[in-house]
Amino acid sequence: MTRLHFSMPVLENRQTRIDALSASDPIESGLRWTSARPNALVVACSDGRLQEATDAFLAREFKIIRYDRFYVPGGGGALASTGTDPVRAQQMCAECKYLVDLHAVRRVILLFHGPSAAGRIEAACADYRRKLPWANLAELRARQEADAADLLGRRREFAGEAGVLVYRCEVDSAGALTFVNLDPDSTLGSDGRPRGARR
Ligand SMILES: [Zn+2]
Repeated sequence: MTRLHFSMPVLENRQTRIDALSASDPIESGLRWTSARPNALVVACSDGRLQEATDAFLAREFKIIRYDRFYVPGGGGALASTGTDPVRAQQMCAECKYLVDLHAVRRVILLFHGPSAAGRIEAACADYRRKLPWANLAELRARQEADAADLLGRRREFAGEAGVLVYRCEVDSAGALTFVNLDPDSTLGSDGRPRGARR
């Protein structure tokens, strides 16, 4: 049996105050719990490679810094069966609706991710590759767009009365990221048109 030895610091004080972590960091030193909830819920893929880009997009596009998170493989796509996974999709929709009701969410932002039209298949969402192992890049993108349209059509099932937005984080061949609005009827997004959540 091989034992692994990790060099762990011995903590004299087992409670770590978050405001003591980095007094010189204005974000960490100012952290406080408040009773006010954010009213937006983001459904995004668990893929950690998109974390910073997602936060930057939400902050720039919607001025959202704090938001409820439903991170699950596939992101918004987890709520769609994609023709292969109806039981999981049903469960994910129920979980999402539960969160919306429990936290009085008013806006749900569904995020997909994958390669741009000129991107590389390696940038595809692992959950979509699992669901559609035979699909090429164009087929994967088309299926995500079909799933987005399907979800918008039955948004009350997972979002109740909340507004729903759908974006895909697209990765080009050089690794650059662009968030593309997948709702053709949306007046929100990067195009600068007037804002108002679709209901
Ligand atoms: Zn993914």
